[in-house]
Amino acid sequence: MNYQGSCHCGRIAFEVEGQIDEVMECNCSHCSKKGFLLWFSPRDQVALKSPEADMATYTFNKHEIKHQFCPDCGCQPFGFGQMPDGSPIAAINVRCLEGVEPTELTIKQVDGRSF
Ligand SMILES: [Zn+2]
Repeated sequence: MNYQGSCHCGRIAFEVEGQIDEVMECNCSHCSKKGFLLWFSPRDQVALKSPEADMATYTFNKHEIKHQFCPDCGCQPFGFGQMPDGSPIAAINVRCLEGVEPTELTIKQVDGRSF
């Protein structure tokens, strides 16, 4: 399945290939404040359709995950990081994907606040 995604204003646009089996809702300070529903996908399944230079980057804690957001509208469609084995991974905010209805998804609660 191919999903089209964007920030609110459209400055960041992307597409991602895969199947959303389950999304993660985490209670850590970052995820809860931004209201993420995250779907993890190999980084190479995500294709940017807008210039990489148009994205702003936020990092915190260990600064290992690049949280990409739009400097105009503030939406954060995804973050890029690495799995423990070093393979690149993308955490997609499914709220920024077209045609995805959050109430129809299987949501896994993650207690990130305790990590
Ligand atoms: Zn935007």
